[in-house]
Amino acid sequence: MKIVVSEIIWPIGIDLIKQKNWTVVYDPDLWTDNEKLLFELEDADALIVRNQTKVDAKMMETAKQLKVIGRLGVGLDNIDLKAASERKVPVIFAKNANATSVSEYVISAMLSSNRSLNSASENVKNGKWNRRRYTGNEIYGKTLGLIGVGEIGHRVAKHAHMLGLNVLGYDPFITPYEFSVMESGIELVKLQDILIHSNFISLHVPLTDKTRNLIDADLMSKMKSTTWIINTSRGGIVNEKDLYKALQNKTISGAFLDVLEIEPPEKDHPLLGLDNCMITPHIAGLTEESQNRTSRLVANELIGELEGKVSLCRVK
Ligand code: NAD
Repeated sequence: MKIVVSEIIWPIGIDLIKQKNWTVVYDPDLWTDNEKLLFELEDADALIVRNQTKVDAKMMETAKQLKVIGRLGVGLDNIDLKAASERKVPVIFAKNANATSVSEYVISAMLSSNRSLNSASENVKNGKWNRRRYTGNEIYGKTLGLIGVGEIGHRVAKHAHMLGLNVLGYDPFITPYEFSVMESGIELVKLQDILIHSNFISLHVPLTDKTRNLIDADLMSKMKSTTWIINTSRGGIVNEKDLYKALQNKTISGAFLDVLEIEPPEKDHPLLGLDNCMITPHIAGLTEESQNRTSRLVANELIGELEGKVSLCRVK
């Protein structure tokens, strides 16, 4: 068997596949060289990607022997699922493996929104002692609105409750009686209520035609001036031009963006110039723990598929 891995994977994933004495072509930068990637895929049995490799119909056409695609993560917008299904190539993903890490990122964003310890420490190191400037706000008793109450959303809710936040959720595809909602004490409401009542709005939906530009100027105009938007889901779900205007005019308080429409952004991207917009390089799901889990899970499930089993992590 020949397995091509076109993006970074933690060593445990490669070790597990090599224990099978299969050939592994591993180059974390392979996704940047389409010609080389297509060449390697011509006789490949499996492909493992993260979120940068664009797995399209042409690629699958080239990879005639492809039997399975592994996705080291959960967002599936970089894979043409229709083309994979037409060719009967199952796609397996790292179901739930990085949800806790993303949830902790959201909690960390909320805690640091009004208490930037990094900035306060920087201030002291620059010879200052500005206690007034660094007087913050508690998150205790504030309202968190979740858009999308799936694997990540309900974990965020559980963590947020421990810190004394009220948690509202909007998700038109689930009922109030699902375990994930009842067990995490989320109050399911209309989108309008999330916008009006939340101090923090955190997005946990996939990028689809329906969620692209979901958060636009119209929705932002309904938010409180003290609201922080946290987007760890996908770039393109929050309209970046509208967000820029809302942040610059301070009609909302601030934003944490872990994902952008184009990653990495152009050097002159307007959002980079705003003090109230924190941007991180798509790291919400990136921790040593989650990456070990993800790499182990995808390698094991992929091996199983190549040995004739049907993975529980197949995309349905
Ligand atoms: P999930 O499939 O478990 O949950 C998504 C939820 O969104 C579902 O409950 C679904 O019903 C809901 N939803 C779909 N369309 C909606 C809409 N229009 N309005 C409201 N709700 C809607 O997925 P998850 O594991 O919670 O992950 C969510 C997203 O987070 C992923 O699709 C991925 O893009 C992103 N993600 C990012 C990182 C990162 O490192 N930044 C890591 C993991 C996942």
